[in-house]
Amino acid sequence: MIRFNVLTLFPELIQPHLEFLPFKRAVEKDAAEYKLWNLRKYARDKRGTVDDKPYGGGTGMLLMPEPIYDALHDIHNEPPEDIVKRSAVRIILLSPRGRKYDQKYAGELSKAQEITLICGRYEGVDARIEENYVTDVISIGNYVISGGEVPALVILESVTRLLPNVIEKEDAITNESFTEGNIEYPQYTRPEIFKDKKVPDVLLSGNHKEIEKWKKENSPSA
Ligand code: SAM
Repeated sequence: MIRFNVLTLFPELIQPHLEFLPFKRAVEKDAAEYKLWNLRKYARDKRGTVDDKPYGGGTGMLLMPEPIYDALHDIHNEPPEDIVKRSAVRIILLSPRGRKYDQKYAGELSKAQEITLICGRYEGVDARIEENYVTDVISIGNYVISGGEVPALVILESVTRLLPNVIEKEDAITNESFTEGNIEYPQYTRPEIFKDKKVPDVLLSGNHKEIEKWKKENSPSA
């Protein structure tokens, strides 16, 4: 059982997804549990302030370090500087500056006991969090979006799919794109002819050897 925590200003962006597959099945099968933590609750003032201007100038606001530190402490019941020393726990900051995410990285994360995802907003997060209290900084690609919630969902979903008993046909994961360094071959379903476009003959031939050969030839390396 892997425990996921998501620290965010907008838990309502994450919550609806958890009601669908693969999350629903992961919970039913005791493969995972998901907990959402609202960063606003860790503001140190009554107005709920969690962001401030960057030192040295620049546009926009940054998430302050104290609310994130306090939230990490609360989530793990332990000071964040101690949590990062334990290899079974991953504290992940979502950031365009991070290591690029891929299927292999998802596989590595699926071995953890607990994963906490910190979603940035505005111009990002005070750098002392990244420097001292996380085990991983992850980017989902070379582009910028408005918050860490969608990147967190990408990680939650790709890791959840790899947990035991979550995808019913194990085959579906082992054959999937990127798993063995290749992208999955094109697939077709009924009708056999759609607007004059026909399904490749070999797939209708019933010749399993030829079909496997065609699939291999049409799975380019990633
Ligand atoms: N000022 C930052 C920069 O130029 O790199 C961008 C901040 S972005 C508007 C706000 C938050 O969205 C980030 O702190 C991060 O959590 C998340 N984010 C945006 N793009 C991302 C990406 N490609 N990968 C992971 N997280 C991303």
